[in-house]
Amino acid sequence: MQPKPRGATRLYTDTTAIENRSRVLWGGASLLVLVLLAQLFLNDDATKDQPSSDSRPDPLVLATTQVAWEAMSEGQTLVPREAPLEWVDVTVRKGDNLSLIFNRAGFSDRDVFEVTTSEDGKALRKIFPGQLIGFAADESEQLLAVRHIESPLKQTVYTREEAKEGQFSSEVITRETEVRQRSVALTISSSLFLAGEQAGLSDGIIMELAAILGGVIDFALDPRRGDEIMILFEENFLDDEKYSDGNILAASFSNNGRLVEAFRFIDSYGDVGYYDAEGVSMRKAFLKAPLDFTRVSSSFNPNRLHPIYKTKRPHRGTDYAAPRGTPVYAAGDGRVVEAGYSRANGNYIFIQHGEAFKTHYLHLNKKRVAKGNRVKQGQIIGTVGSTGAATGPHLHYEFLVNGVHRNPRTVHKILPKARSLPETELAAFRKAIRQPVQQLAALKISGAETGETGTETGAE
Ligand SMILES: [Zn+2]
Repeated sequence: MQPKPRGATRLYTDTTAIENRSRVLWGGASLLVLVLLAQLFLNDDATKDQPSSDSRPDPLVLATTQVAWEAMSEGQTLVPREAPLEWVDVTVRKGDNLSLIFNRAGFSDRDVFEVTTSEDGKALRKIFPGQLIGFAADESEQLLAVRHIESPLKQTVYTREEAKEGQFSSEVITRETEVRQRSVALTISSSLFLAGEQAGLSDGIIMELAAILGGVIDFALDPRRGDEIMILFEENFLDDEKYSDGNILAASFSNNGRLVEAFRFIDSYGDVGYYDAEGVSMRKAFLKAPLDFTRVSSSFNPNRLHPIYKTKRPHRGTDYAAPRGTPVYAAGDGRVVEAGYSRANGNYIFIQHGEAFKTHYLHLNKKRVAKGNRVKQGQIIGTVGSTGAATGPHLHYEFLVNGVHRNPRTVHKILPKARSLPETELAAFRKAIRQPVQQLAALKISGAETGETGTETGAE
């Protein structure tokens, strides 16, 4: 899916401002020449119809001289040159096509044809809502150039070739963002999201953090008041303004007395992964919370340990109270072995993972997979509901090992270990995490000293 080009309008404003300025300068210069010519050759005609004004200086001449002086003081010359193109940008709407857009800007289907049948012109056909298409014409409304602003980072300009009738040449103009590092320490007092928000973290970074740690931390039920999170991450800047989130480089989470750390590492094959300080992958066979924790009702409640729902069956799983419609994920890769309805379970899905493991998801509002489907970890398999014997909307989640129910909250201790980095990668890994380890440690000290929620340090 095409990302929404953020800041596209800003780019447009900026370039227009620059163009406006040079147009004023160029316009002023040419006006001055015209006025001087008029003074030289048309003096008689020009003064004939006007009341005598010998004693007063001509305000027009004064004004243009001023502009010309400004032009020179700005380092511009008065040598006539080609005027910059005057762009009119049109936003691509939902359901738009080139013909509609060209017509809206006052250009014809023939123009569309000429641009798109030129060499490299086909690329212009790939337009998405929110992008800008710019037009520049001469005084006789002949189309001179078209620009396709895909994002603030990329635009393509199609320019009419003077030598070749009906042909446009194209040029791709790209910009690069500047990567800056940031580190943030936060203490959870009410919820992870609130703490993150107060520390100025974007939702995207918080979600990414949750995804990295999702195999070891249940973000719906684990967080406690006083938990500390240190996070070292990158942000992409364009023109000194934040453009997008970058990578999380390292993170630590002190959760209820245990410390979880994760470090980003690119191995010698170029594969990106997150590992603990020992080089064990953070990617586990199962998610700890198989649902969108951000929707879990007050995702952190210091007084609540386990919300228990009264059901008629013996309670052998974990309940996640969440609004109806909250996405439920497959806890791990596997195959749907049952997807049905019963009076006790309501809408339910059972997933088999390899030989030994099985996960159950009950009381669903909607099922999104069918029996026999293969599913990937994190894939949405349904939504939270209150079907069957349930007193309110919640996900009842069960974990079975060799047919025996286990507590999903503690079962991870008996699961096979996650993949570790091979010996050949360890030296490079240890070297790579040396600095982030120190940065996290420093952050921990400074965060602890101030005792504030959301201590932030700019890092290099
Ligand atoms: Zn239950």
